[in-house]
Amino acid sequence: MKNIPKQLQQTLQENYPIDILSVIKEEKSLDGSIKYLFKLQDNTTVESVLLLMKDKQKDQQGNIIKSEKYTFCISSQIGCKVGCSFCLTAKGGFTRDLSAAEIVAQVVYLKKLNNIDQDKSVNIVYMGMGEPLDNYDNVIQAIKIISQESGLSINTRRQTISTSGISSKIDKLAQENLGIQLAISLHAVDDELRSELIPMNKAYNIQSIIDAVKKFPVDTRKRVMFEYLVIKDKNDDIKSADKLIKLLDGIKAKVNLIYFNPYPGTTYQRPSKTKMEKFKDHLIKKGVVCTIRESKGLDISAACGQLKEKENLE
Ligand code: SF4
Repeated sequence: MKNIPKQLQQTLQENYPIDILSVIKEEKSLDGSIKYLFKLQDNTTVESVLLLMKDKQKDQQGNIIKSEKYTFCISSQIGCKVGCSFCLTAKGGFTRDLSAAEIVAQVVYLKKLNNIDQDKSVNIVYMGMGEPLDNYDNVIQAIKIISQESGLSINTRRQTISTSGISSKIDKLAQENLGIQLAISLHAVDDELRSELIPMNKAYNIQSIIDAVKKFPVDTRKRVMFEYLVIKDKNDDIKSADKLIKLLDGIKAKVNLIYFNPYPGTTYQRPSKTKMEKFKDHLIKKGVVCTIRESKGLDISAACGQLKEKENLE
């Protein structure tokens, strides 16, 4: 814009950048999921993933009767401080928090790059790189901007914070009453194993997380998601399933079972399909809603804990 004073041009340029992300790598999965590596203005990089949850449906005449459904996995930090033992992001340490603008920009770019307009269904999960509740203020500001009708108009009911369980911040989030959804990476039912997998458990143990979740306002149509990483001979038995059922008593919960994928240096192993199914059936029999995670984007390492660091490991 050359028709505004030079001084104002400079102020705008310095304080209100427009293109704060640029795509430097794009990987497309066979199932339609796409992983993007973005470069930020300070030359750091961050990843976001678009998951195609349901493709469009057409009638016999070829008219579209239902449009696509997408889930965006959005990053909140460059690197992460939590240090989960199974996570590739954690291996690179922590660089910095993302600003609210950089979080919102990931959503804007995923929509723009894939021509996703207002009437297509988009869910957002803050589960890319970083622990969203460790960058609390910026994540909350981003959620408010994304949900505003004059902004991207993606209702908070369609946005989920996935946390490794900073219970004090879950309490704080509950007080905001944003209508946001919550997912907890629980992974284990005893503190010893959980602290091994997620060292931060020493500061925020299982009981403190459960207590915080019990106070969290959950939308009447929704459930709190508990992610549970199933490890062979460690937490894949019926005794662990019973402990989990007891922990979740009184919570409108849904359990998502995840196969443990061995990584270099671990002695832990992937559970058998039979054990996994048995675990699931036991939970369902006792009235707990439970699914086994369908890993979208597996061929492009788009699952949680597999982002960005692959770049450096290659
Ligand atoms: S799994 Fe999530 S919380 Fe844990 S270190 Fe990785 S990015 Fe951080």
